This record gives sequence, C-alpha cells and structure tokens, in this order.
Amino acid sequence: MARTTTEAARVAPEVMARYEAVIGLEVHAQLQTETKAFCGCSTKFGAAPNSNTCPVCLGLPGALPVLNKRALELALRASLALGCKIEQRSRFARKNYFYPDLPKGYQISMYELPLATGGGIEIEVAGETKRVRITRLHMEDDAGKSLHEGFPDSDRWSHIDFNRCGVPLVEIVSEPDLRSAAQAYAYLTTLKQILEYTEVSDCNMEEGSLRCDANVSVRLRGEPRFGTKTEVKNLNSFRYLTHALEYEIERQIGVLESGGTIVQETRLWNVSLGRTEPMRSKEFAHDYRYFPDPDLLPVSPSDAMLRDVRHSMPELPAERTARLLADYGITPYDAGVLTSTRALADYFEAVVKRGSSPKAAANWISVELLRHLKDAGQEISACPVSPSALAELLGSIEQGEITSASGKKVFARMFSTGKPPAEIIAAEGLRQITDGGAIERIVRELVSKHPENVAKYRSGNEGVFQFFVGQVMRETRRQANPQTVNEILKRVLAE
Ligand code: ADP
Ligand code: MG
Ligand code: ZN
Repeated sequence: MARTTTEAARVAPEVMARYEAVIGLEVHAQLQTETKAFCGCSTKFGAAPNSNTCPVCLGLPGALPVLNKRALELALRASLALGCKIEQRSRFARKNYFYPDLPKGYQISMYELPLATGGGIEIEVAGETKRVRITRLHMEDDAGKSLHEGFPDSDRWSHIDFNRCGVPLVEIVSEPDLRSAAQAYAYLTTLKQILEYTEVSDCNMEEGSLRCDANVSVRLRGEPRFGTKTEVKNLNSFRYLTHALEYEIERQIGVLESGGTIVQETRLWNVSLGRTEPMRSKEFAHDYRYFPDPDLLPVSPSDAMLRDVRHSMPELPAERTARLLADYGITPYDAGVLTSTRALADYFEAVVKRGSSPKAAANWISVELLRHLKDAGQEISACPVSPSALAELLGSIEQGEITSASGKKVFARMFSTGKPPAEIIAAEGLRQITDGGAIERIVRELVSKHPENVAKYRSGNEGVFQFFVGQVMRETRRQANPQTVNEILKRVLAE
C-alpha cells in the first residue's frame, strides 16, 4: 500500500538507531513593552478585540510607523545576553504576503541586514554540555489573530482580532546544531530562561509570548550532508515541541526506509490527533518579495545606547547560579533547581533574607514548595505561601517549637488556606512537646505496659528501642521532640 506523507510508519528501534536527527529552531519572543513596535497602542493581553489598534498597526494608507525605543533596547539586550554580535547597521524589510490577520499586507521584519548575528548558548542534556550556535536575531512585528467558531455543516463564523498586530517580537534563529527532541527541549528551556531573567520577554507560552518553529531533517549516522528538512510551525508549548519532533523524526525515517523521499514543506502539529500534517509547500524567501521598508530608518545603535544596554543588563541565569553557590553554600543541585526561574530564585533569596538558614530554605523550597505548586498546577508567582510566612515556619522548626514532621503538615495547611503558620500551629495543637516531665510519664506508662519488650531490651535486643520510640511518637501524635524522647527512654530502660 502506498504510504502518504501524513501517516507515520512505526519504525523499529534498531532502524531508528541508524539515523540521526538534525534540528534548528526559529524562536519568536514577544518583547516586554507597554506599547507596540511602531505605534503607541497598548500591548496588554486580553483587551477587548480590536480595541488596541490605530491607523499605523492597521496599515491604513498614509500612516507612518516609528520604532519603539524600548523594543530596540530589549532586542539589543537579548542579543548581548546570547553572545551575538550587534550589527552596526540593520534594516527593517517588508515581508509581503496575504492573510486575513495581516491588514498591512506585509509583516515588518528584518531580512538581509538583521539586528545581530552569531552567538550561542550552552545547553545541558543527560549530564553533557553542548553549545548551540545562533545564526541571527532580528526584530519584527506580530500579526493578528483569526478565531473560527461553529462546526462544519452548521453556521460558521470567523472573527479577526487585530490587537496583536504590530506587537514587537524578536526572532532568534539557531544553526542546525540540535540532534534530538531532548536537545531541542533543553535549548528552548535555556533560551526561555535567559529571556525571562533579562526581562526581555515574559515568555508566557499560553498567551503566545513565546512560540517556536522547528526545522527537522534526518540522515544516516555518519552521513556528512544534511537531509531535506520540514518545518513544523507555531509550537507554543514544550510538550508540543517534543511530541511534534518525535513524531516528525519517526515519520521521516519511515518515509526514507520505505524508499520515499522527504518533501520540503511546512507542517502543522495537530494536537488532537497527535501528528504533524502538511500545511503548505515550502515557501522561499523570494516568494515574499522582501524589500527595505521605506517608512523606517535603518537601525544603527549609538555607542551610548549600547553602553546603557550593557549597564542595565540584569543578572543572567548562569551568574545567578554561581552567586547562590558562593553566597549560601547550598549544593549545586539545589542551586540549579532554585535558579530554574528567576521568580523561584527571588523567592529563595527573600526567605533567606528573612532569617532562614539557606540550607533549610533550599530544602523546603525544592521539595515541599515545588511539590505543592506542581500538584496545584500553580506558578510560583501565585504561591499562596509568602516568603515571610515560609521563613516564619522554618524559624518555628529551627527553634524546636514544632517538629519537622509537623512542619510539613503546617506547610500543607498554609498552602491550602494562606493562613500564617502561628495560627495553624495553635489551632491544630501542633506545638512540640519538649516538656521532659510529660514525655517521661508517657514513657513510664509504656514501659509498664510492655514488660516483655523491656526484658528483651535489657537482654541486648537493641531493636526493641525503636519500638518504644515509635510508641511514644504515636502517643504524642509525632509532636514529641525526638532527642528528648531518646534521652528519657535510654534512662528509664536502663533503670
Ligand atoms: P529557510 O531558508 O528554509 O528558511 P534557513 O536556512 O533560513 O532555511 O534555516 C531555517 C532554520 O532551519 C534554521 O534554524 C536552520 O538551523 C534550520 N535548518 C537548516 N537546514 C536544516 C536541515 N537540513 N535540517 C534541519 N534544520 C535545518
Ligand atoms: Mg527561514
Ligand atoms: Zn497601533
């Protein structure tokens, strides 16, 4: 049976292993500006459809675009953070095509003279570090959004929202240096982290602030030439990127193995069917009739501007990790977890600033806090436990007011209710029993209840000791201070 390009053949693992994938990503990030790239319209997400528009971003005749200085600064900041070389002269170009969400009839982008070239980032996959080179970084504006409603064979409506038109983006194009879906995932993760840390973009993927097109080809291992690539457009989540690449790699190998050839084309990831599908045949640069935008001046950042951009560069993720290691003496693993996002690193430092030991703060954040956030599907920015509340809880544990086991209970309640730890500790009667007299009463009662175990202990069976510890803990609902329990038990059993 003839295989169409839409179906993925299941390819045997030993056949897959003979091939290598080659991947290059084109990442679009929305610059974090208040206003659009070439007009004063707001970039605020979620505004009423078409409320953030004007003659410039609607491309009405005679309107004149003016470059947003902040957008340029952020694009320059991104270039420096990625180690790119900023070109002395770059230029906006019109990329012409027709689409209903593009009222100007062209996208403003950069073509033959991009803002920056070269550079790269280090990624880590399975303990190995790899450098991924960046080809270019350029500025462009975004298109609007089409919304389709209804079902086939019934009333169908299409709506257009031009609010996104003219929103400033950077496009970051990588060299075809990636060799697996896992590497592509790591690259996008690292890139996102850098763009977030530098406040170039909020990288909110649900709101479309970070999207990526994945170019992928396969070749037999050892083959020096690249194979024909396909491009999977508009992947707006890490999961889709991974799944689309895995699917596409296997599909291409299947096509080649069955004697077919890969068609260079643009494909789409069909989320519900879990497969890539052809969207259109590959378009080439000449299809867009690029030409320099006559309404916009070439971009030549002054030395003063570059100096300001350099000086205002926030701390990069790698620098932050190094600083946390040096300043707080936490483990490299913890430092890596805590700096995975800037918000989490800020949270950690805020807890420490309020007097917690760095070690305890690191532990509680990377274990308890992250687990609760994950279970609740929440971001650290919406964490119901504030840094000062966590610091207070850690203080209670450190001072022996509650046990570490109770601390976990209290934390869970803090997370679900947002109440301060003191209130929960009081309400649930979790204050640790350090009163030796009370513990001794319990110990003596247990000893008289279990004479056979006392005898065993005295005849050298040390394991029985743990039995008594467990019993005391049960009687005190784990609120007894473990050290006090040990001391008293030893003394009473030795009598
Ligand atoms: P095009 O002209 O088709 O847009 P580019 O040379 O601009 O192609 O590359 C676009 C992206 O595709 C880049 O990220 C690049 O690394 C990647 N790429 C180029 N060739 C290949 C290939 N053979 N396989 C996989 N990715 C590739
Ligand atoms: Mg391209
Ligand atoms: Zn506008």
